[in-house]
Amino acid sequence: MTPPETLPERCDRCPATARVRAELPFGELHFCAHHARAHEDRLRAMGARLRTPANAPPLPPVRSRRDREPAAPG
Ligand SMILES: [Zn+2]
Repeated sequence: MTPPETLPERCDRCPATARVRAELPFGELHFCAHHARAHEDRLRAMGARLRTPANAPPLPPVRSRRDREPAAPG
């Protein structure tokens, strides 16, 4: 089966919305912003191309490693 070109709704590692598609020699993985950053080095080491589809929101700025997911503003 050929996966559709559209970005799936969910990260492969958690229930968050997927924002990055990692194109690997053996397939594709999808990550939220958090997991994309968490696995970026390993993915690149495997030869992945990280893409942010136009229909996905931009990645948030990098935060300190001590910061957890920021609380919702407001
Ligand atoms: Zn995730």
